[in-house]
Amino acid sequence: MKKKLFLFFLVGILSAGFNVTSAKEVENAVIISAFRQHIESIPYLNEANMQTLNAEISEHVKCLQNWSDKEAYIKDHELQDYLDRQKGSLKYYQNSSYAMIDDFLLQYADQGIENEQACRDSLMAILNDRTGMCETNLNLLERELNNKEEQSFLDTINWTWVIIVAVLLVCIILLISLSGKKQKGVVPQPKPNPSNGGSNGNTAGIVVRRKTATILKKQSLEDVMENPAYLKVDAIDFCEESAVRRLYIKNTCIIDLYNMYASDLANPNNAKENGCMVLGRWVHDTESGEYYVSLEHLVMPGDDAVFKEYELNFGGKIKLSVLEQLRRLRRETNMQYDLTCWVHSHPGLSVFFSNSDLSVQMQLKHPTHPNFLTALVVDTLTPKEDVGIFTFRRDGNINSKNELTKMYSLKEWYAWAQKSLRETAAAPEAPAAPETPAAPQDSATSTPEVSSTVSSTTTASDGASYQYSSN
Ligand SMILES: [Zn+2]
Repeated sequence: MKKKLFLFFLVGILSAGFNVTSAKEVENAVIISAFRQHIESIPYLNEANMQTLNAEISEHVKCLQNWSDKEAYIKDHELQDYLDRQKGSLKYYQNSSYAMIDDFLLQYADQGIENEQACRDSLMAILNDRTGMCETNLNLLERELNNKEEQSFLDTINWTWVIIVAVLLVCIILLISLSGKKQKGVVPQPKPNPSNGGSNGNTAGIVVRRKTATILKKQSLEDVMENPAYLKVDAIDFCEESAVRRLYIKNTCIIDLYNMYASDLANPNNAKENGCMVLGRWVHDTESGEYYVSLEHLVMPGDDAVFKEYELNFGGKIKLSVLEQLRRLRRETNMQYDLTCWVHSHPGLSVFFSNSDLSVQMQLKHPTHPNFLTALVVDTLTPKEDVGIFTFRRDGNINSKNELTKMYSLKEWYAWAQKSLRETAAAPEAPAAPETPAAPQDSATSTPEVSSTVSSTTTASDGASYQYSSN
């Protein structure tokens, strides 16, 4: 008995001793949060700088994709230098990240670190996370620049060959017509010879296609305005002033959105913030300065996205998906599709528009028509699954929560979408029929001028989209 007591006593002392030493070690969570603060003090790595940088690079990429004279844009903005400089800075910080972590951890050398390797891994992940989007964006920019070099190279080749081929053509026509005069009745067929230039003929073909690809596709919502597959939401119903006058939300888009958040409903205690981007079309009414916008296809983020209460990062992969989908939609429909909306959730936090939401909005907006971009914020844990619609006002400021006069309900939208889907499935719609000029008149409030501006502003916004003022 005494022995047992003694043993207990011994174990007690030992474990107490152990506890004391382990309490001295610094917990990883403490170090991680100190490290986050630390990188905020580094001008290059702090969040604001990274966001500005990312916005800047994305804007260049966007412009390059929509610009008619890319070479001039590259020269004007000294983009090659810019890219080299940015890549240099990024590389510098990436190469020095081990040293930076070593330096930072020195301060804990005396106390010891709870689980040093795990801690180092977390700090490295934080750094990679901070620079990851920048790296993706720079790669995108580099790709655009390389594309351009290829294109301008083709362009110069092209002109030389065009002249050579033209001269050859004239010679051949002359020769044939001369011989035709000698042998009456031979019809000159000048075509086959120039294509003997094989690859030259091909390069010319490629360039022509490339050039048409940069031209804006048809901007129209005519097939949507009276289409029962689209939910109409007038801005006047949810706020006093908005640059977007009306949204047309496709039933399948609502269903996808609802399904995306279905896991939150099933498991409310473990609801996670989540988001996506929405592609659609837009039309600008030049007279009123208002936009009509459709929300049609969701694009989900890749595995590099981070959604947390105070961190909202869609990652780089979704950008590639968005570009891919936009290209596909434009090719298939011959319509000008763009990123018209983005969505994210605030499960249980209520609907509002935070500062980080604002910075995402600023990064995603269109370079020449920034005001049509719309944001939906969903609180999945309210009974009706509240949806707030945030739009820009015409002065370019975004409506805040206080300016919203109405919340929508994802549940009610979903019920509508299901009904609408059943009805439209009964009468199958021709998939995206840009040629049908049907439904020219919009109902009650929207006035016929809407549909007339649809076509009249097409050219105006076409032109405007090429005019990028670097502000
Ligand atoms: Zn938010």
